[in-house]
Amino acid sequence: MMSTQTNEIEEIKAVKPYAGFFKKASRPYYIFGPCSAESEEQVISTAKAISENFSDVVYRAGLWKPRTRPGNFEGVGEKGLGWLKSVKEQFGFQVCTEVANPKHLELCLKNGIDMVWLGARTTVNPFSVQEIADALKGVDIPVLIKNPIHPELSLWLGAIERIQNSGINDIGLIHRGVHYRNNLPYRNLPYWEFAIELKRLFPEYPLLCDASHICGTPELLPKVAQKAFDLAMDGLMIETHIDPPNALSDVQQQITPDVLEALISSLQFKSSEILNEEFKNELDSLRNKIDVIDEELLEKIALRMHYIKKIGKYKKENNVTIFQLERWNQIIDRVRKLATNLGLSKPFVKKVFDDIHDESISLQRKIGNDKDN
Ligand code: PEP
Ligand code: MN
Repeated sequence: MMSTQTNEIEEIKAVKPYAGFFKKASRPYYIFGPCSAESEEQVISTAKAISENFSDVVYRAGLWKPRTRPGNFEGVGEKGLGWLKSVKEQFGFQVCTEVANPKHLELCLKNGIDMVWLGARTTVNPFSVQEIADALKGVDIPVLIKNPIHPELSLWLGAIERIQNSGINDIGLIHRGVHYRNNLPYRNLPYWEFAIELKRLFPEYPLLCDASHICGTPELLPKVAQKAFDLAMDGLMIETHIDPPNALSDVQQQITPDVLEALISSLQFKSSEILNEEFKNELDSLRNKIDVIDEELLEKIALRMHYIKKIGKYKKENNVTIFQLERWNQIIDRVRKLATNLGLSKPFVKKVFDDIHDESISLQRKIGNDKDN
């Protein structure tokens, strides 16, 4: 299923090469600013304090706040547009905000907002994304697309395709974590595989990490932000507020401009380009070894599946269940011990064997249900 989606996306990409804002700006890309615009004073003083340490950043502030439950602060709306305009004029920042419908977009375009983002609660709904995409036809503005709240990659892909189809080339992606059964210690679980897959599908689109909505608390920010850079992500969105304890939304996760400065200086941004020749040669030789090992691993797995099929036939002939609890326990115990002796992590080995066992069961079920066997 994934590969069909990939092919469709390759076709769309082929006709729309990327040449937008992020290509021209310098990496890492930073989007800082409060969760919500609350007052002119709060918007300007936060921007002023950020400008003391940073110049090349995009300033964010939500004007229309998609709150999960009603009755909370739902944003100042239209009147905050002028405050963002002042931020542009006074500090030279590009400014951005979230749009959840065509009306928001129209107001942003009329008021010189430089870029917009689609939030997680919008990306989750193809109807809303399509309405915004229709309103974007003929418009030239960078659009950032957050991943949907829950871990469904195709919804994120669908939102990107809808925005691409509207004619927008200047697209950025934001990984903000996903809501899962148990998100602890995060507010939204970072789903790095999800982000890596998006990077693979859209290598030319910048991929940013919204570490604030992943962490939900400042203590986790350094670890998550550094991991984003280690995984070759291109930038960060960090919610920054002049007075976090008195913020009207996301009070627990915003940091002051001073803490922001300390956070960013503590991070190491790494280039994904390998320029050093000697290092490149060494890397190539190690990667060749990895390729050989991968081949051997797959050959061994294929051989294992060959015996699995044989066993499947015997189970069918003898009319016994495919899943055998005792044997499975024995395998887990054994590989856990082997993992310890080999210095491998036990949970990792368990995960690998869960998948192998799953595949083995499907193969044997196929044999069990096949009339010819
Ligand atoms: C936000 O950026 O303030 C926001 C509401 O984010 P998300 O859509 O990721 O929840
Ligand atoms: Mn927020």
